[in-house]
Amino acid sequence: MTAATLQDPNSQPLTTLDRCDRCGAQAYLRIELAGGSELLFCAHHSREHEQQIRSIAVSVHDQTRELGPRSPAGHR
Ligand SMILES: [Zn+2]
Repeated sequence: MTAATLQDPNSQPLTTLDRCDRCGAQAYLRIELAGGSELLFCAHHSREHEQQIRSIAVSVHDQTRELGPRSPAGHR
């Protein structure tokens, strides 16, 4: 165990401090763009922008499954 373990940023879990760039809710999806910038999305916006995300992201860190099946219904 070394204290200076270099972590791949993509393997770092998102925390409650990570906020959706669109609405400010807790982020569950982090995408990395060509050039190194990152975007964060909540579960709602990650679904809403899924097509766009897939077309521009070079890597995706997805934690939306951690929400479980209890995502709020009736919001369509
Ligand atoms: Zn959002």
